[in-house]
Amino acid sequence: MPNRAYSPKCSTCRQRTMALSSMPYSVKINHDGREYDIDIPSLSVPTCSNCKAFVLDDEANNEIDRAFRHHASLLTPAEIRSGREKLGLNQQAFAQCFGIAVSTLSRWETGSQIQQRFHDGILRAFFAMPDLRTFLAKLHGVLSATNGARATISMPASAPR
Ligand SMILES: [Zn+2]
Repeated sequence: MPNRAYSPKCSTCRQRTMALSSMPYSVKINHDGREYDIDIPSLSVPTCSNCKAFVLDDEANNEIDRAFRHHASLLTPAEIRSGREKLGLNQQAFAQCFGIAVSTLSRWETGSQIQQRFHDGILRAFFAMPDLRTFLAKLHGVLSATNGARATISMPASAPR
């Protein structure tokens, strides 16, 4: 990233000696009742050349987040959003299909909350299986809410099952 913003001043030794540096970084992340060991071979972080203190800024935290999602095989926020948009569903209708709050979906799509493995699996199935979309839309009464929102989720003319 060209304009990574961080303070040049070290909060530990108070020298203006902070500069980007790469280092191996390991962290344990608890998510959804499991502990994940995340190892990043080369994490770029603002580091003090004087006392070696470093800070995990937003970009470093995003990198850790990406590594965690990859390790745990969880959809990224962008994948959730683009999957929803490809189906022509707004957040309201999409959340309703899963019986979750729009605010929850919104947090998944911004990355401020990481979906549970259970929800991740349902999301993947929903994206992959038209029958499941129809089933859930019917189950949660979403059909009326998606009028005008492309036909992906509309009921087949001869509804089976
Ligand atoms: Zn320092």
